[in-house]
Amino acid sequence: MNDAKTAERRRTKPRRWLRHSNPYHNPRPHQPTLRFSPTAWAKLLFLRDLGPTEVGGFGISAADDCLSIEDVQLVRQSCTSVTVHFDDAAVADYFDSQVDQGLQPSRFGRVWIHTHPGSSATPSLRDEETFACSFGSVDWAVMFILAQEGQTSARLRFNIGPGGSLEIPVGVDFSRDFSASNQADWKAEYERCVLPPQPRPPAIIDDWPADTVPRTNEFLDEEWADLFGWPDDERELAYGHEEFNPSEPFAEVVHV
Ligand SMILES: [Zn+2]
Repeated sequence: MNDAKTAERRRTKPRRWLRHSNPYHNPRPHQPTLRFSPTAWAKLLFLRDLGPTEVGGFGISAADDCLSIEDVQLVRQSCTSVTVHFDDAAVADYFDSQVDQGLQPSRFGRVWIHTHPGSSATPSLRDEETFACSFGSVDWAVMFILAQEGQTSARLRFNIGPGGSLEIPVGVDFSRDFSASNQADWKAEYERCVLPPQPRPPAIIDDWPADTVPRTNEFLDEEWADLFGWPDDERELAYGHEEFNPSEPFAEVVHV
């Protein structure tokens, strides 16, 4: 019996070696990879190229694979060529609508996507801050950047256990079902969501001595802000200051 087992091991071991040494045998790489469906990738390229500004949104993951992106959803945002500012209420609405459709946050709120002008998909300092602060309270998240000229970067961060992060490859996955292109709907979504930046607050603040300019919203009382008619989010843009609240992960997403 033992001899039979030994013989079995001798016979099967080379086969296992062969199987694992053949890179074509297993089409799925062992390394985590962010994979877009052809439709999601086409939509992201379309949205990136539709206007002169950056755009940002979230990836919707497949039910059985959190790194398989089936759709890209914009949320209402103020954009310039180098900034995206998500509207807080719109992010909340986006979360509500996805939950109403029966999705878990792990499918729609973990993969943060935005575009960059030019050739570089390297995260800016502000991107790093946003990723750390706005996505720091969830167990995992991905920051994905697509540059205008095609370069990509994807960072997978784990916030469980000791935590950690790694750069992961990006690809387009043709192995799963995917839906048809729908540029009319994508354009409508863009027009609904991507807004020009709000007018800059009055220039009077530029004349103030720097040490008298309040640095956060906490120093601004409502009366004062109302006097100038500033929307809440403009106060932060005016000072080049953003507040990130890890307990409200997407309260403010501003980057350069
Ligand atoms: Zn960026």
